[in-house]
Amino acid sequence: MAYDRNNIFARILRGEIPCKKVFEDSHVLAFHDINPQTPTHVLVIPRGEYESADDFAAKASDAEIAALLRAAGRIAREQGLAETGYRLLANHGRDAHQEVPHFHLHIFGGRDLGRMVAKPAG
Ligand code: AMP
Repeated sequence: MAYDRNNIFARILRGEIPCKKVFEDSHVLAFHDINPQTPTHVLVIPRGEYESADDFAAKASDAEIAALLRAAGRIAREQGLAETGYRLLANHGRDAHQEVPHFHLHIFGGRDLGRMVAKPAG
């Protein structure tokens, strides 16, 4: 599947849609999630055109991969989460309910996050 240049995060990267920026460098942009699930909920995205975690892991350069993880750690620290704890999460594809087809890492924190993933309903 070809990368969709009109996805919402591509538009944020081009400055067509505003975001509440928390960090940027030459490889990475990070901003607050518009619908936060936790007191702190930040999205960390590569500037490059990668559709998903699978795409990013397979095709991004070592420098891009390192920059993203370093940025996530730095942001979590700066948001005061390193002491109390936080969760990094990347949804890939249908079973993970990925909504936006531009790879992103969620940083969740600011409250007890429970353990791992939700149990199936029923
Ligand atoms: P995912 O299900 O992993 O693809 O998550 C996509 C995330 O993007 C959701 O948590 C949305 O709330 C968030 N989101 C969608 N549009 C925007 C936007 N314009 N600014 C910030 N976050 C957004």
